[in-house]
Amino acid sequence: MDFTLNEEQRLFQRAVRDFCEKELMPYAAEVDETGEMRWEAIKKMPPLGLTGLQVPEEYGGAELDMVSTAIAIEELGRACGSTALSIAAHNGLCCAPITQWGTEEQKKKYLPVLTTGEHLGSLALTEPQAGSDLLNGAQTYAVRDGDSWVINGQKAWITNVKFAPVIVVLLRTNREAGARGFSMMLVEPNTPGVTVHPPEKKMGLKGSPTQMITFENVRVPLDSLLGEEGNGFYQTMQTLDSGRIGIGALSVGLAQIAFEHMVRYAQERHAFGEPIANKQAIQWMIADAAVEIEAARMLVYKAAWLKDHNEDYTKIAAIAKLKASEVAEKVCHDAIQIHGSYGYSREYPVERIYRDQRLMTIGEGTSEVQRMIIARRVLKEFAL
Ligand SMILES: Cc1cc2nc3c(=O)[nH]c(=O)nc-3n(C[C@H](O)[C@H](O)[C@H](O)COP(=O)(O)OP(=O)(O)OC[C@H]3O[C@@H](n4cnc5c(N)ncnc54)[C@H](O)[C@@H]3O)c2cc1C
Repeated sequence: MDFTLNEEQRLFQRAVRDFCEKELMPYAAEVDETGEMRWEAIKKMPPLGLTGLQVPEEYGGAELDMVSTAIAIEELGRACGSTALSIAAHNGLCCAPITQWGTEEQKKKYLPVLTTGEHLGSLALTEPQAGSDLLNGAQTYAVRDGDSWVINGQKAWITNVKFAPVIVVLLRTNREAGARGFSMMLVEPNTPGVTVHPPEKKMGLKGSPTQMITFENVRVPLDSLLGEEGNGFYQTMQTLDSGRIGIGALSVGLAQIAFEHMVRYAQERHAFGEPIANKQAIQWMIADAAVEIEAARMLVYKAAWLKDHNEDYTKIAAIAKLKASEVAEKVCHDAIQIHGSYGYSREYPVERIYRDQRLMTIGEGTSEVQRMIIARRVLKEFAL
């Protein structure tokens, strides 16, 4: 397995980094303060492929591999957590399932709109009473009625809804069929009966809106089904496998920028007559962060590489997401520690980065869920 990036991937990384440093990084604090995404920057993303990373070129995308996708999301995360989350969700949770399971008609209708840089798409899985345990807990359902599906229920914590021309929604279509009783559907948020609630007031990622949606007798045509009826739960698991590589990459980006701030500050700040970077306790925090970030990044690349080579990557994606999100937590914690009081202040970016990274061990499967997935796989591999 070749871990090194090829020339094309390296050039792409450079281009995305330049873009992010110019268009996102200087505005990240403002996005956090105002809770408003910088659309001026998002509108400039299509030429770089950031609004359609893996969407085929014929529908306006860049048709990139998963390693390049991970590179892009890491760079976005390094620049602005809010923008990175919204772009990662748009690509991995909305464009990806439509690309994978959409009919030609659905792809032609939605993907060229989604890739323009004027909108961002959503995936709605979570409900007020169920996140980790969708199989037993998700209640939002759709029933056939003549030439329509009629949808009732609620989805919670959904990213990008207020920007979305279309939402991929996981629905129960057969209450008796267990995991086979779910289907995915494409629902436009302006359909009568859809209510989008005000954005949640969150700890971090404030520029990335997260909203509840209520469906009250929402009628959508029968051909709103995305993929086959009864396959929704399996489609969800596949979508999340890949999405986890994105959250892993985003975690690496957040850890990386916190690391950069921590190292610079340690060199500038003096105590006991010398820069604190001369102190072994500080050096060990820096060394540990360097090791852990590198390890997390390699795991993310490995998961992406396996996906690109059509290998089973479920376990490694869970490992990468678990490791990278826990590394982000530790590195951001230490970055604040090294900044002392200034780290606790909004004047310094590590405070925001710490709040932003906190989602990473929760979204797209909590750390506990990742450990469940990993243990299940390992126990199966060692089955007696
Ligand atoms: C900013 C943000 C953006 C989000 N965006 C989206 C989105 O776009 N689309 C979407 O569908 N959802 C989204 N979510 C929801 C997110 O995916 C869920 O919050 C997450 O899956 C966890 O579900 P939950 O909050 O219901 O926690 P729960 O499932 O209620 O879990 C609560 C706690 O119990 C633990 N737990 C649960 N089961 C087990 C078990 N078997 N063993 C051990 N521990 C367990 C969990 O790990 C967690 O610590 C978002 C959430 C946030 C905060």
